[in-house]
Amino acid sequence: MFGAVGSASSVLERDQARGPEGTTPKKMCNEPLLISEFQCTGNKRLGQAQTSIIPGMSPYRYYPLSLYFKRRFGQRVRKIPLDAGSSCPNRDGTLSRSGCAFCNQKGSGTGLADTGMSLRQQYLHYRDRSRDRDTGARFLGYLQSFSNTHGPACRLQSILQELTDLPDLAGLAIGTRPDCLDEEKLDILQNAAFDELWLDLGLQSAHDHTLRRIHRGHDAACFATWAEKAAKRNIKVCAHVITGLPGENVADFEQTILFVNSLPVAGIKIHNLYITRDTPLEASWRTGTFELLSREQSLDWLVRGIALLRPDIVIHRLNSDPDQDELLAPSWAYEKSAFLNALKERLLEADTWQGKALGLKLPEWINH
Ligand code: SF4
Repeated sequence: MFGAVGSASSVLERDQARGPEGTTPKKMCNEPLLISEFQCTGNKRLGQAQTSIIPGMSPYRYYPLSLYFKRRFGQRVRKIPLDAGSSCPNRDGTLSRSGCAFCNQKGSGTGLADTGMSLRQQYLHYRDRSRDRDTGARFLGYLQSFSNTHGPACRLQSILQELTDLPDLAGLAIGTRPDCLDEEKLDILQNAAFDELWLDLGLQSAHDHTLRRIHRGHDAACFATWAEKAAKRNIKVCAHVITGLPGENVADFEQTILFVNSLPVAGIKIHNLYITRDTPLEASWRTGTFELLSREQSLDWLVRGIALLRPDIVIHRLNSDPDQDELLAPSWAYEKSAFLNALKERLLEADTWQGKALGLKLPEWINH
């Protein structure tokens, strides 16, 4: 899966440092709101120590996972990345050995399975570290590395078994590909004993020509089929998509958002494309076969995509989280908090929000 790449500690610390989504003021929309430093009035940016009161302005221009968790559990829920030592059909030779064009050998994972730490040990280790700073939090285990439903169904069953009854565990998110599912695995997921279960499914693009170009090894119809089958069993599907894929323009990305809207998807992660070492994409990028989006272009694509996105879809991420040791470009991909703050400013300046371009009424979460 394309997502956070790096050590588990750094991933957790980055999540904890991310802040802004969890620190926005919580008020009703008909009350004056304190607008924190990353928001603005008109085009005038406020300083670090300044606040301003803007009547009737909700801080939520999109539906973030932090807000979803507050509404669902009444408290903060943090993610803990877990590495089950999974593989991927696009790496183990089932489909290919080269992987998706943007993916490196770590498969967007922590690599902790290679150290011999069990899933329970990984979870407890990072839970304890986090509890030192935030005693009230619960946690969502995130099986992030590679494709966690690849292989026999009994393997998935034993992974879930190992993760049941962990202290402070609010639920589980399972990263995988749509072609690594079958009815037996959905049975297992449907019957899993977790309060909350998300199936993080890689789509990346709704365009099959792009999926072929990046060597995904499945098409958009495969994603649609398994997203629908999972949703029929009340399993929450989180679609992973990428902005700035080779050959795509903003209209292509908007079509991907509309494709996601058309499916029973409950969440979305939107990553900006970046280049890491030792990936097939690195070579194409070095020869100038394609160009990465600029920071400004990425912001523009996101503002347009968010305005088109169904307002009930929970946004799990809006930017990538590359490992600093592996990132080659773009350099601004390091600045995750600044990027998110700039996006929030853009949404305010444009007076737009998630779903506005669909002509729907204001979403109810905007009042939180
Ligand atoms: S499907 Fe496999 S090769 Fe593609 S991004 Fe995920 S782990 Fe990497």
